[in-house]
Amino acid sequence: MARDDYEIVMGLEVHAELSTKTKIFCSCPTEFGADPNTHVCPVCMAMPGALPVLNEKVVEYAVKAGLATNCEIAMDSKNDRKNYFYPDLPKSYQISQFDKPLCERGYVEIEDEEGNKKKIRLTRIHIEEDAGKLNHNEFGGGSLVDLNRAGVPLIEIVSEPDLRSAKEAEEYLKKLKSILEYIEVSDCKMQEGSLRADVNVSVRKKGATEYGTRTEMKNMNSFRSIVRAIEYEADRQIDVLEDGGKIEQETLRWDDVSGRTFPMRDKEDAQDYRYFPDPDLVAIRLSKEYIENIKNNLPELPESRKQRYLNEFGLSEKDSNMLTASKYLSNLFEGAEKICKNAKAVANWLLSDVSKILNEKELEVPVDDLIKLAEEMEADQIPFTAEQLAKMIVLIDKGTISSAIGKKVLVELFENPKDPEEIIKEKGWIQISDEGAIKEVVLKILEANPQSVADFKAGKDKAIGFLVGQAMKETKGKANPQMLNKMFLEELKK
Ligand code: ADP
Ligand code: MG
Ligand code: ZN
Repeated sequence: MARDDYEIVMGLEVHAELSTKTKIFCSCPTEFGADPNTHVCPVCMAMPGALPVLNEKVVEYAVKAGLATNCEIAMDSKNDRKNYFYPDLPKSYQISQFDKPLCERGYVEIEDEEGNKKKIRLTRIHIEEDAGKLNHNEFGGGSLVDLNRAGVPLIEIVSEPDLRSAKEAEEYLKKLKSILEYIEVSDCKMQEGSLRADVNVSVRKKGATEYGTRTEMKNMNSFRSIVRAIEYEADRQIDVLEDGGKIEQETLRWDDVSGRTFPMRDKEDAQDYRYFPDPDLVAIRLSKEYIENIKNNLPELPESRKQRYLNEFGLSEKDSNMLTASKYLSNLFEGAEKICKNAKAVANWLLSDVSKILNEKELEVPVDDLIKLAEEMEADQIPFTAEQLAKMIVLIDKGTISSAIGKKVLVELFENPKDPEEIIKEKGWIQISDEGAIKEVVLKILEANPQSVADFKAGKDKAIGFLVGQAMKETKGKANPQMLNKMFLEELKK
């Protein structure tokens, strides 16, 4: 049998760190990147007798995420202890939610490979605490534990096994990322581990009604590795089955360098964790008004922004998709549009030249296509403001600079962002629109290119394009192209 006779089935467990100021059960800061063990206290270091108190913001953020993903919100829920030993978990249990999660039965809509809308069902979203981090000494000198991350709030978003290809899994994760960014509950920085996914993969013969045995790849935090890992793992499982073997349910580690998965441990079941309600915490009870209030204050979601871009600004489906894929990009677009009132120009600059420069700089992760880049874009990658971009577009629209000069201004904006007007003054890039000056250039170019002049007179209209090009070169892109065109025509027809 061939690979094509099989279907891949996937469900994702996505962990997102919430961007609350303080941890979930204590008031230590959640900020990333501090010196090891400086954001800790008796509660998150698991000192005996220290008592946790639930951070209300965590509940609010999780409810927000649930509402934005069409979940039912539980009025009654609770925190449970999930018992296991690991050196980065000093309590030897994680406070999580077992049988009464905050949110259940939601869905996220994606486009499948044929471009049809497809709902990926969410089983649940629950709140829990993150563990600490082990820093392994690469020279074999042991491992050190950093508890700054212990107690940072997480939501875990569990999907049903509704995904059918690596591409769908990628789409789903991107959609989820953009929703969480829009509602501002997580910064979703995959590089910093703020968003990571456990990917469950199984295969089955097409047409089969039962699912196959799954394996789980833990803590994946880049789109590219997820796609590669799924493809590798599905192939591996098919090979095992084709050889008459059986898939073991196990937890795997994906190794990006060798492009392979390795067994980590046998899969444990819920019963291995001995879940029980945490006796140190009170049950969570929400009122209808509380939930309604959060619902009424949800910010605009990407889908609705996209519709506005299509209707209000007349942008294409593709451009609207790219711009709204990242909240950051979308905000930049809207900010600049408000000032210069030229939506199409802003979209074009952002999606072509700005993206190209970002791509060349290989900011964040190196990406091979611009759509991916737009989707993965995060704050702090673009150094200039919406206002600066808008002002540059206004300068072009007014004819103060040509769009060729606009490109140079953009490069400057990346290097040393400031008011574009100042940039062009300093650099002497103001467009030449003075008739006398233009005429001088035109005459000079005509004299230097008798062949083109003859071509034009012989009916080859294209020759004028060449002449304008030469004049632009001569003026280092500063001459007003419309005026050049007009004046060349006048002179040639004399
Ligand atoms: P855990 O991994 O914590 O034991 P679950 O049993 O709830 O949790 O399943 C976790 C994930 O595995 C879910 O996202 C679910 O959709 C997915 N999943 C379950 N069965 C399969 C399967 N046969 N193939 C692929 N994914 C599956
Ligand atoms: Mg799992
Ligand atoms: Zn603490």
